[in-house]
Amino acid sequence: MPERLTPGELLTLDRQHVWHPYGPMPGKAAPLLVESASGVRLRLAEPVEGQDELVDGMSSWWSAVHGYNHPVLNDAAHGQLERMSHVMFGGLTHEPAVRLAKRLVDISPEPLQHVFLADSGSVSVEVAVKMCLQYWRSLGKPRKQRLLTWRGGYHGDTWQPMSVCDPDGGMHELWQGALPRQIFADAPPAGFDAAPDEAYAAHLRELIGRHAEELAAVIVEPVVQGAGGMSFHSPAYLRVLREACDEHGVLLVFDEIATGFGRTGALFAAEHAGVAPDVMCLGKALTGGYLTLAATLCTTAVADGISRGALPVLAHGPTFMGNPLAAAVADASISLLLSQDWGQEVKRIEAGLRNGLAAAADLPGVREVRVLGAIGVVQLDHEVDMAAATRAAVREGVWLRPFRDLIYTMPPYITGDDDVARISAAVCAAAREG
Ligand SMILES: *Cc1c(COP(=O)(O)O)cnc(C)c1O
Repeated sequence: MPERLTPGELLTLDRQHVWHPYGPMPGKAAPLLVESASGVRLRLAEPVEGQDELVDGMSSWWSAVHGYNHPVLNDAAHGQLERMSHVMFGGLTHEPAVRLAKRLVDISPEPLQHVFLADSGSVSVEVAVKMCLQYWRSLGKPRKQRLLTWRGGYHGDTWQPMSVCDPDGGMHELWQGALPRQIFADAPPAGFDAAPDEAYAAHLRELIGRHAEELAAVIVEPVVQGAGGMSFHSPAYLRVLREACDEHGVLLVFDEIATGFGRTGALFAAEHAGVAPDVMCLGKALTGGYLTLAATLCTTAVADGISRGALPVLAHGPTFMGNPLAAAVADASISLLLSQDWGQEVKRIEAGLRNGLAAAADLPGVREVRVLGAIGVVQLDHEVDMAAATRAAVREGVWLRPFRDLIYTMPPYITGDDDVARISAAVCAAAREG
């Protein structure tokens, strides 16, 4: 065993050497030091604001849907570790990857039949874009290489994904001019239950029609736009996109990295609309938050198109493609999800959040409160004071990570009613003090 470092030493070294997401170097705000996690609780190495445990309101960014240290997922990881934690995927294959791919095909919208296993969500979006561009090249239409999306989206931090993130106010403004220039429709009108806006639908149709010659694909997050602004829209617009893409010969990509595996109340958000994309990206909750893994699924038409081209292969192959350990845990996580009435759990959390967050609507500085599935959002009318909001939540015994003007939560599905109430109270406290 290496010598133990004290919490103080760890935090000093962290500040000196370790980058954190969207952080400066050296780091400014001290992160909380987590020692272990179990169920819905994160155990801190030393008490903060009098708390040595925090209820996790974030599911580690949508991923830990079953909570931490789950016996079933631990068993899957241990079992696979004893056989092999990794083996290259070129020229070799293995049961965990095959089982996982078959399962993803079985549970995803019917036309999606082929699975590319990637190592993170952003890479799965890169692969999706590569599939679409290569499809059109194979068909002798190399001009079709741009993407269309709507504003307010988020698709990851690598190059192609950044180019379809919201260009204003998003996290990638800095790169304007350096990124491929994509085509942006207005953000979808807000509200999952709002009546579809005909003028907006016409706007989508017009833009897709006008740019069809240069468009490889439309890529959107269905129903919930996550890190771009935590907003919800009517599934009707997904049907509009499907129709317009079919009419004009454009592929449709759904990025379900955040929404997949039940978070919105449907197993995949596309189901709210009853439409299937040509390509779909999955990640985040895929391994129940245990390991990094993502998947890009496509239809047989897309796969055939690519495989008939002058370069009849999909030219992509990460070193850790199909990692057996991650695939085994992912398969176990999906089994675990499907073995229970997950829809009922998501509904229960939705009711708890609606109830608990209602109080926030009357707070000064709060613009809107919205809840969909196991997602609760309080939007302020100002930029949140991160330090004050985080402190307020920690004082309530809850871990939250607000951004921009948003204080939000997407708890693990195993979160009990008392803890949902506690999380809601912490969101309200953060909204009051942030
Ligand atoms: C998180 C996210 C990504 C990026 O996934 P990473 O694993 O962080 O690379 C892409 N799209 C959406 C919708 C996401 O929420």
